[in-house]
Parts: sequence; structure tokens; C-alpha cells
Amino acid sequence: MTATGFPAPSGIAVDSRFDGGNGDLVAIGTAGGRTVVDLAIRTDAGCSFRQWFDVRLSGIAGRPVTVRLLNAGSCTYPKGFDGYRPVVSTDRSRWTRVPGRYDGGVLSLDLDLDADQVELAYFAPYDLSAHADLVARAGSRPGVRRIRLGSTVDGRPLDALAMGTFDGSRPVCWIIGRQHPGETMASWWMEGALDRLTDAADPVAAGLRAAADLVVVPNMNPDGSFRGHLRANAAGANLNREWAAPTLARSPEVAVVRAAMLQTGVAFCLDVHGDEALPHNFIAGFEGIPDLRPGQLDLLARYRGRLDEVSPDFQTRIGYPAARPQTGDLSMCTNWVANTFGALAMTLEQPFKDCVEAPDADEGWSPAGCRRLARACLDVLAAMAPTLKTGYAR
Ligand code: ZN
Repeated sequence: MTATGFPAPSGIAVDSRFDGGNGDLVAIGTAGGRTVVDLAIRTDAGCSFRQWFDVRLSGIAGRPVTVRLLNAGSCTYPKGFDGYRPVVSTDRSRWTRVPGRYDGGVLSLDLDLDADQVELAYFAPYDLSAHADLVARAGSRPGVRRIRLGSTVDGRPLDALAMGTFDGSRPVCWIIGRQHPGETMASWWMEGALDRLTDAADPVAAGLRAAADLVVVPNMNPDGSFRGHLRANAAGANLNREWAAPTLARSPEVAVVRAAMLQTGVAFCLDVHGDEALPHNFIAGFEGIPDLRPGQLDLLARYRGRLDEVSPDFQTRIGYPAARPQTGDLSMCTNWVANTFGALAMTLEQPFKDCVEAPDADEGWSPAGCRRLARACLDVLAAMAPTLKTGYAR
């Protein structure tokens, strides 16, 4: 029996005051027989970044609805909306793309759904309860230690998972993600990576864990994730510009990770992100650092080249231009780690848009794609781990 006799909602409601939500209702009107819902994306606290959106619309059953993001054109990366398709879900499990229309100022989309409620977002959300589930699941598997590295600005725990001996006999590999909280593809990547790394039946993971010590920080920015930020933490800091001189007041998330890195040493660091504009997976390196070691860039070329060979989702033709020698920004994680430790450090970027190399008409670049790419990244790391530096590299 369906509750057909239940009183119908009087109109459409918009919610975004939930974990990871962002998008304020500006107005509801009608045009051409459709209900038009106008929204504005909120700015990250303490700074001017904005682009992440995640809203729930209620009372839409039987109503043709057009949603308009009125301030899309004044977001941080307006080019990110060219050729972009938002994601929607009615079950918060499967996220499918809907066509977007971007006119340089407003991003519009049509919803004609036989559902009471729908969630609409920039990319498949990954909220803090999903993060807590992931940390608990991975952290309770054999040989995995669950470490609380410190507290965020808002007082949340900064979680890390550690695997290995950390006795200086093996290379130490760090993997971090979500410095930019709106880049939820990093969390889906982390889910794929941690599920593989902690799978006792996976021979690649077993080989990697035999050859290297591993530290994974799945979410560097839980405050920004909860607040629905694009790039900043609760103090308005872009964490990937804080690595040269983090402070406990402004960027404790970076300060505690950096301090732990200085204790363990770093042979390898992968920092997982998303890019608003480029419809590709790619890796950015550390070509501009002042203390480039002999052979260091060869490791970068080997990792990129091998990933290109094993992953149909990855490519090396398109990405950010390499920094000129001696111009590297040491406030960024990859440059700071590469310069400090002589390590192989990389920034992995995944698209918000559909991925040209792995097109999917229904889902675009998707949680499943992120997990698949993570597994391929571990294939390459496992193959290279025996050749990475051991000991305390600093
Ligand atoms: Zn980023």
C-alpha cells in the first residue's frame, strides 16, 4: 500500500543545513509550467571560495522543477560549469548526472522525477559519517593502527591509519586527501585505496605492506567537509597553501600531519584532489622545488608512466603546466614534501566533469571510477616501493 491519502506538501522545500550541505534558497517561482527554484551557493567561512553545492529538495513529486544556481558565474572556478553535469540521487546511494545549462552566470537544470525528495550536488557527497565508517572499518582490520593525530579548528579529530613497522628499515609512504573539502572524489578514492590496502586476500596490497610502511589520512579537512566548503577549513585557510608555515591556530590539520611526517620521514606522498575545469585524471609534480635531488624527477616520470599503462582512467597529455625550475610554491604539500625529504611527492587530480578517457553517460566520473583509479595507483606504488628510499629520509 502506498500512502496516497497522506496530505500533499503545500510546496517545495530546500534543505542544506546537514553534514556537507551548501545552497541557500533565494526564491521559488513559476515559469512555463515549471516550478523554478533559485539557489545561491554559500561562501566558505573566512574567505571568498565557493563552488561546492549539496541541497535536498522536498515536495517535488509530480512537479516539473527547474533549479537555478544564481551565483555560479561568480564562483571560484566558473569555467568548471562549462560542459558540466550536476549529480542527483533519490536514495543517496546511486548518483546520476543530469544535463546542466550554463550561460556564463547561472547554472540551470531540470528535474522531472517521480520522487518526493531528491538530493542535488556538485559531485557524489561523502559526509563525515561515511568517513567515520571508513576509518572504523579499515582501522579494525589486522595490522592497522588507528591514530588520532590531533584536533581541527572546530575540535574534530584528525584521523590517520598506519600500517607497518616504522623502524626505519622500509620506505614510509603517506597518502592524504580532502585538503580541499569540496573535492569529495578524494574520499571515494580513499575508500577504494583503504579497502584494498586492508584486504588480507589481495596479493598486491600484501606485497606493498611487506615492502613499505604506510600512513593514510583520508580526510585532512573534516571541518570544511561538514560545513560544505569548497576549499577552506573553519578558519578560512586553504590547507594546500599552509605547508611552509602551518600554525595550530589557523591550520592545525596541516601542522599535526607535517609534524608526524618529520618524525616518520617520507619516501612517497600522494595528495588526492579534484579539479573543477579539466575533464581528466592527471598528476601534478614538484618540478619547481629549489632542492631537487638527482633522480627525483625520474621517479615522478616512472610513476606517471606506469599509471598511464595500467589505468584506462588516467592520462599524461593534459594537466597543469610544470613549474619552472626554482619557482615551486613550498606552501603546497607536494612541493614541501618533495623539497624537505627528497621524496616522490605528487598531487592526483580527478575531474568533477565527465572523464574523457572513461566516459559514463549515466554517472560521469563516479565513485566507482574513483575507487578503480585508487586500486590502479596502489598497483604502481606496490611495483615501485622496493626502489623507494628507506629510513628517515630527511
Ligand atoms: Zn584541490
